[in-house]
Amino acid sequence: MKKGDWIWLAAVLGAAAVLFAIYMAYQGRGSAAVAVVTVDGEEFGVYPLDQDAQIWINGTNELVIRGHEADMVSADCPDQVCVNQKPASRNGETIVCLPNKVVVEIRGGQEAEVDQVAN
Ligand SMILES: [Zn+2]
Repeated sequence: MKKGDWIWLAAVLGAAAVLFAIYMAYQGRGSAAVAVVTVDGEEFGVYPLDQDAQIWINGTNELVIRGHEADMVSADCPDQVCVNQKPASRNGETIVCLPNKVVVEIRGGQEAEVDQVAN
């Protein structure tokens, strides 16, 4: 091969590597974590963290998804523990409202898929 061919090959491989990196990064975001909301042990809904949303849970708790975080912003429970909890954004993090039996659990996209297969 001529020297020019090697440069061309390197450029193609470099571009492919960049595209692959972008693809992986996009996949990482695409399979972004979701907030799984359960009420009294039953699934209420699943909400992707990459979409801002305001969710009324069972008319008792208000969950806001903003900036890839799930945050309980208001609740009618007496202790307000859930409201005072930090926003959840990472896989496995939970926001729990004991009086209303509301649980918000963050699940990573990939692990959620594995769960579905396992189920
Ligand atoms: Zn609460």
